[in-house]
Amino acid sequence: MTYAVKEAFLTLQGEGVQSGSRAVFLRFAGCNLWSGREQDRATAQCNFCDTDFVGTDGAGGGKFADAETLAAHVEHLWGQEQDGRLVVVTGGEPMLQLDDALVGALHGRGFRIAAESNGTLAATAGIDWLCVSPKAGTEVVQRQGDELKLVWPQPGIDPAELESWDFGHFLVQPMDCAEPKQAMEAAIALAMERPKWRLSLQAHKVVGLP
Ligand code: SF4
Repeated sequence: MTYAVKEAFLTLQGEGVQSGSRAVFLRFAGCNLWSGREQDRATAQCNFCDTDFVGTDGAGGGKFADAETLAAHVEHLWGQEQDGRLVVVTGGEPMLQLDDALVGALHGRGFRIAAESNGTLAATAGIDWLCVSPKAGTEVVQRQGDELKLVWPQPGIDPAELESWDFGHFLVQPMDCAEPKQAMEAAIALAMERPKWRLSLQAHKVVGLP
């Protein structure tokens, strides 16, 4: 299988429970909930996306002919360090491309695999840390994982309904939108009202990392 990667780079994970961890970010091109084109945003199933996942032209991006080639690229970005190898597989929607061969190739090079999915596709087996971020109006089939990240506010989602899903951590993250103050207040209010939820901030944006 040929993998289409928008960009890949070494950074610190900025979100969620593993925030602060050194990681290679592997951003696949394409999503099943939006084309990525602005003219389609209003009619997309997900319309608050803050990520460019169109094409393969980003830094470290490209088309990779097979799993071993892509895993070698990830390892090159990571460097020689053997300890703490972590790759964050994201997108777009990574489950469109993350397959058994790539999971095996990354594990073979000593990487723990974290993945960030919208949950509308079943997660590939073997992922070491699964984050699901549900989008209002979509059918989430992946209701089990390590962290559930709710971008907030999202009309049409009831946090109480999500609390029965099988996740180790429930995180509420203010939406990156035109009204950030209101989004922050809404996220704080949710965490205060429902103790199962923890406030998660996008630390990479605060410190200026990609
Ligand atoms: S599901 Fe994720 S990647 Fe896809 S459009 Fe929404 S926020 Fe962006």
